[in-house]
Amino acid sequence: MTLSRRSLLAGAAFLAASTKARAAADADVAVIGAGAAGLAAAAAIQRSGHSVVVLEARGRIGGRAFTETGLGLGRSFDAGGQYVHWAERNPWREIAQAARVRTSDDATSPWPVLVKDGARASEAERRQRRAGFGRVSAVLDHPAGPDRSVAQAVAGEDEAARAAATGLTRLTLGEEPDRVSCADYDQLWSGDDIWVDGYGALVAGHYADLPVRLDTPVTGIDWRGQGVAVETPRGILRATCAIVTVPVGVLASGSLRFTPDLPATTGEAVAGLAMGAYTKIGLALEPARLRAQDLRDAVILRSGTPGLTAYLEMQPFGKPLAVLHCGGDGARALCEAGEAAALAAATDHLVSVFGADIRAAITGGRLAAWWTDPFARGSYSIARPGHLAAREALRQPVAERIFLAGEAAAGGAAMTVGGATLDGERAAAAVLKRLGS
Ligand SMILES: Cc1cc2nc3c(=O)[nH]c(=O)nc-3n(C[C@H](O)[C@H](O)[C@H](O)COP(=O)(O)OP(=O)(O)OC[C@H]3O[C@@H](n4cnc5c(N)ncnc54)[C@H](O)[C@@H]3O)c2cc1C
Repeated sequence: MTLSRRSLLAGAAFLAASTKARAAADADVAVIGAGAAGLAAAAAIQRSGHSVVVLEARGRIGGRAFTETGLGLGRSFDAGGQYVHWAERNPWREIAQAARVRTSDDATSPWPVLVKDGARASEAERRQRRAGFGRVSAVLDHPAGPDRSVAQAVAGEDEAARAAATGLTRLTLGEEPDRVSCADYDQLWSGDDIWVDGYGALVAGHYADLPVRLDTPVTGIDWRGQGVAVETPRGILRATCAIVTVPVGVLASGSLRFTPDLPATTGEAVAGLAMGAYTKIGLALEPARLRAQDLRDAVILRSGTPGLTAYLEMQPFGKPLAVLHCGGDGARALCEAGEAAALAAATDHLVSVFGADIRAAITGGRLAAWWTDPFARGSYSIARPGHLAAREALRQPVAERIFLAGEAAAGGAAMTVGGATLDGERAAAAVLKRLGS
């Protein structure tokens, strides 16, 4: 990431200040990462009257809640989180309502249109598909016995059910069914989903006034002695406690070094989790070249054509764009192949649904490559089979001064913006207790 001249100067001032204050703490709390968890934690610390500094590697806040606006006016889409899941208890429902953001709820959101080789699938095919999903839900609902993978749980089912399980884990968890824990999947919260037009922008706007240092990747946390020394290319920030909200993929990568190493129990928790590769590709469409039957506000599942497991959002909120969602190893391969190859694959997918004419309507595109993003290293956390306890283990404070938080630590609320927010608030409450508030 390149640094602007202005941010370099700000960085130099920060370095000078932190050198002078070497012995004293620069802040009560250092928060690492300005995603939903870090921002919620920092807001709670600030409300308490304690001092807090957020260090963020990217040049923006919001993390995996990010509204992509690069496809031209009126074609924004959420490259990361877009649904307010389990809305009944999700704080973002009220925040979205108060901000008057456009939403689409369960009652009005589009029902998937099943397309097979360019034509709408027959009712018999739709029934077969629904039956497959029904059997998978029954198998995955409150699984008995020792934990196993989703693939193992459905191994005795017929081909339609096994295919449904693969589609389910790839398109909800971003991962292959043999790598995800049934017990963890079962403990995830459920409820109403509200589709937000600009979830990332909502998160960034809601937390616009916090003390965040952008373009400041944390490379190390030294927790010998009393507090923590947080190392960045711009200098060291000393604080009494650190709330670390980087994704588990970043923790596992070793790009953020802890001195001494984190305890074995924390290391095992990180190793018990992994990152899925849920991926979105936005294609800008030229309205004049779209035909009425190219569907508005529709969610399209393609079946019967081998290849990428994916679904299409056509003209969401009436905007002239298509967003391809995919997950699992096929999505990983697209992220690794790069944007041009991913856009070509998304274009082929669109053509396989609508026919060759739609190719001329595509004017550009964007790949949200979370899997190859060094500050995400995947879409969101999954628990490996047998590692149901990892999320809770991640929440245990280290030496009362390092508090890990974020979607991965959010238990049943994991994998979501709402879960990250609640977990950031949970970590802030633990830190405030430690600080004597
Ligand atoms: C494609 C996709 C679709 C999704 N769909 C939904 C959805 O529909 N609904 C939903 O609720 N959730 C969804 N999610 C999940 C949701 O976006 C995340 O769970 C949530 O945003 C995670 O918040 P967080 O604060 O835990 O982590 P992050 O948002 O990742 O925040 C961590 C921050 O740490 C920063 N960072 C990383 N390394 C460093 C470092 N070394 N130094 C300093 N900073 C660093 C990162 O840049 C980032 O800003 C989706 C995610 C993806 C990727």
